[in-house]
Amino acid sequence: MSEKPKLVHCLECDHVFEERKKFIETCPECGNNDTQSTVYMGINDEEEDE
Ligand SMILES: [Zn+2]
Repeated sequence: MSEKPKLVHCLECDHVFEERKKFIETCPECGNNDTQSTVYMGINDEEEDE
């Protein structure tokens, strides 16, 4: 089981924050809680693009 943090990019304010084991649905920077406005960024190239 991997516990690598994911990077989440908030499209509202362009802030990037780490999401670890716990799902973070609100951007700590601007309070955006719209999951449609956040995207995961690839950290490791080992993960294949879909
Ligand atoms: Zn934000």
